[in-house]
Amino acid sequence: MYTLGFDIGGTKTMVGVADESGTVLAMRRFETRGQLGPKQALDRMKEAARQVVREVGVSVDAIGIGCGGPLDRKSGTLYTVPNLPGWEGICLTAELGNEFGVPAYLENDANAAAMGEHLFGAGKGVDDFVFMIVGTGIGGGIIANGRIYRGFGENAGEIGHHKIMPDGPPCPCGDRGCLEALASGTSIARIARERLAAKPESVLWQWISSPEEVTAQLVARAASEGDEFASGVWHECMYHLGIGIANVVNILNPRLVILGGGVTKAGSMLFEPVRRVVRERAMPALAADVEVVPAKNGDLVGLMGAFAVAIENVSCRA
Ligand SMILES: [Zn+2]
Repeated sequence: MYTLGFDIGGTKTMVGVADESGTVLAMRRFETRGQLGPKQALDRMKEAARQVVREVGVSVDAIGIGCGGPLDRKSGTLYTVPNLPGWEGICLTAELGNEFGVPAYLENDANAAAMGEHLFGAGKGVDDFVFMIVGTGIGGGIIANGRIYRGFGENAGEIGHHKIMPDGPPCPCGDRGCLEALASGTSIARIARERLAAKPESVLWQWISSPEEVTAQLVARAASEGDEFASGVWHECMYHLGIGIANVVNILNPRLVILGGGVTKAGSMLFEPVRRVVRERAMPALAADVEVVPAKNGDLVGLMGAFAVAIENVSCRA
């Protein structure tokens, strides 16, 4: 069985073909250019998909699509997606399925990534785990009893929007003090930016000409070089991330918490403090059950998720 996967992000899109074991046989990565509108952007995706299919020289059996939500999985249609303005009502499964004449399945990107880690990644063989993507925002997917847990309205897993600090900073969801507002890449950069003017001694000033240029990556780098200011911001954010994960551990009692996304590239700078907080703040019996580990699918976490969406849906129907 060969699957065609689409990982559609606000900035980047990946398209690839994989076999049933999740071996990627060909792939393309390109800018989504969603602002051009769905017609042009979809034409580019279809063309890239035709290229990878031609390159591999097989016919694909099913298509899996991971995309930022909110979306209606069953009809394959997008609602108003913040990262893809003007795409409301686009039926991705019809657009892409009709192009190749095979069934296509849609899933929100975080759930897809969790399914990908379950079939091919760090969660292989583990039936109870939580996947979290810590990048521009914070998303989550819950695997319970070996299946993705969707909840009544299919919107479960919004781990980025549980409240850590009730009157904390505003969050893109419209509320305040969510985990995402305190520990996403965007938030790490924002917190550093807000405080940087008062810290002329920070090494960050040697790398930037204005606070606008601060990124989470630069904060991590400065912290690793021993910069006191950056270290303070970084550890505050890691503390909040650890608290968020401890809450999730207490509610779901997972065997693993798998972390992916750009911020996790900080490696032990992220995992060490987060594991410590989870150990100290989750209930002891639950903390003893859980390991916090990096996603295995790395930069392909979304694309591997798209393949998993195709495979899971086909095997459900078989
Ligand atoms: Zn929020």
